[in-house]
Amino acid sequence: MLTQEKIRCDACPVMCFIADGKSGACDRYANENGEIIRLDPLVILNNQIEKGEQVKPFLKADWNGETTENDNTFITAIGSGTTYPDYKPAPFIFNSKVDGADFITVVTEAIFSYCGVKIKIDTDRHLGSERAIVRHKGEAIGHVMTSEYGSQMLSLGGVDHLTGGTKVEGRVTCEALMNLCNKEAIELSIDEGLTVIVQAGKPPIIEGIEETKMRVGCGSATIGMFASQWFGLVDEVVVVDDHITGVVSEHQAGKVLDWKSTGISVKGRRSTPGRYFQVANPGTGWGGTDIQDPLTILGTWNEKKGAVPGLTILMVSTTGENYSYYELDNELIPKKKKLPANLKSSVELIKENCEPALCTVMFVGGAGGSLRSGVTKNPIQLTKSVKNNETNITCGGAKTYIWPGGGITLMVDVHEMPDNSFGYVPTPAIVAPLEFTIDRNKYKSIGGHTTKIRSKKDIIENGGEYGNKKSFLS
Ligand code: SF4
Repeated sequence: MLTQEKIRCDACPVMCFIADGKSGACDRYANENGEIIRLDPLVILNNQIEKGEQVKPFLKADWNGETTENDNTFITAIGSGTTYPDYKPAPFIFNSKVDGADFITVVTEAIFSYCGVKIKIDTDRHLGSERAIVRHKGEAIGHVMTSEYGSQMLSLGGVDHLTGGTKVEGRVTCEALMNLCNKEAIELSIDEGLTVIVQAGKPPIIEGIEETKMRVGCGSATIGMFASQWFGLVDEVVVVDDHITGVVSEHQAGKVLDWKSTGISVKGRRSTPGRYFQVANPGTGWGGTDIQDPLTILGTWNEKKGAVPGLTILMVSTTGENYSYYELDNELIPKKKKLPANLKSSVELIKENCEPALCTVMFVGGAGGSLRSGVTKNPIQLTKSVKNNETNITCGGAKTYIWPGGGITLMVDVHEMPDNSFGYVPTPAIVAPLEFTIDRNKYKSIGGHTTKIRSKKDIIENGGEYGNKKSFLS
């Protein structure tokens, strides 16, 4: 029977009053018969994944609920609840034996106001200029960063968008971050740039077209890799690239092969022999330029430097998706011809050497704040032990990268984490699972909450403050 009285959830600063049978503003906690419970099941993994075994989502699979203290299960923080307002010990602190050594793991769902995602989109296409604003549902949620080798990079979220703008900006930023971290697809639009659908582990969809290939390298690298395959089959090869366009007859790779001069001239800025910058504007055409006709990057052919009627030219993009073959006519004008069969395989080889284009979503958050009190009574000791590699941090069981310098700034590939690992609170902030694993003696020495250590069996059978047996076995 439902009771009328609302009770207060204190798992975040919003402090919702929740009626019996209802959930709070974040949909993560509810009032069940006058008790606050965590709604999602606690996710338990098989920690043999590092030895090549599969993750076992026990609470969703056929599992009889049996476990022992020394088995291979690992209780993640997903569904564990949080330590807010941080003076109390983390929801679960358990011990386990790994290869005979005694370890303690502290798990908590951390509330991050200082967090965001870095997104790597494998494409040469020009999504937008560096520093351009990235929007979701019309709200500014981040910006374009410096591109990397074959990839465009975005930085989304962060405290300025979550709390420093309007209420709507904060809400939309939080929603976008949570969906991206939970491996869902979201649409982003870049000011004076393109629209892209991003989903962790999936190909980007740019202006409605799915990207399939990540380039084999820049134009210069492509020349270096394939010059010997072209030698003797064609008189000139140009690999069109927005960053470095390569020309084989001038390139060092061609020189080593004794490649003959062809009298070619390329528009743009010559960097070093056979390497040209700025042959066109950035865009969605050949090699990340804005061109559809590659001849537009060429000037007149110089007879004195080797141009002759009948000279053959292959022009190809850095992914091998675009290619054209030409012969110079009597006026030294390139005329398009069918690609000879013996050159087709080299173009195929470029394609074959391209990796699938994917989106990578890295969650970045600062875990150095007050949540450390949930792990130890002396928070700086936890920071130090992380820096000394004595404490290992995982997110939902996935490996994290810890930034050098102050605090505990961590980064994790969300694709490595179980589905729906992330939540939110309407402050707004992102909720992410964190597990700290440390040798038992070290845990004692850093001021850990040793009286709160429990066995995994006890946690699974009896739950914790926000969970009971029913909620996480259902
Ligand atoms: S938003 Fe969620 S965590 Fe925060 S008080 Fe409400 S129900 Fe609890």
